[in-house]
Amino acid sequence: MFGTFDKSHVGLHMNSVLSENLYTSFPRIYRGRRKSKYESGMCWGFECGDGWYQLLYDLSQELESYLAVHPDLDFDVVQVKAKAGSLRFRLNGRDAAVLEMVARAERRADTMCELCGKPGRLYGHIVPGPPIVLCDEDAATFRLAGSAQAGEDVACLQMQAIGHPYVQGVSNESKH
Ligand SMILES: [Zn+2]
Repeated sequence: MFGTFDKSHVGLHMNSVLSENLYTSFPRIYRGRRKSKYESGMCWGFECGDGWYQLLYDLSQELESYLAVHPDLDFDVVQVKAKAGSLRFRLNGRDAAVLEMVARAERRADTMCELCGKPGRLYGHIVPGPPIVLCDEDAATFRLAGSAQAGEDVACLQMQAIGHPYVQGVSNESKH
């Protein structure tokens, strides 16, 4: 249905403690973490920054609560990632209400710093990697980090310096 879910996308990964919190709090919708990459991108975890943790927690809670009272409906999450600064939250089943919950969360992410969760806006060029939503403070950190080097190496070093796991490499998204 989705092709293969490859890990090689460039960007942040949520830290393991926060990821585990989401998995254990919402085991039903995140059961895809144990599936193969042919079935679910959740085998790669949350491919976004820690700043979106609360947003994802709220959405997950909303979705599990909804499933609990709609026995006719079932789905699990097949991919959570930042793409060009936007949250992409994908499910393998849905109805109109579920779509609206997801759309609302994705809109919320548009103005939420992907690093810390404070209000932010999209920066297309401040980081030499992909666009990212940052708060003023984190954007300033990136400015100070300098631009003597070029390309994704800089973004990777900057992210690691402030404690965010970051995957670098050539983007090779699955086709969707
Ligand atoms: Zn921030």
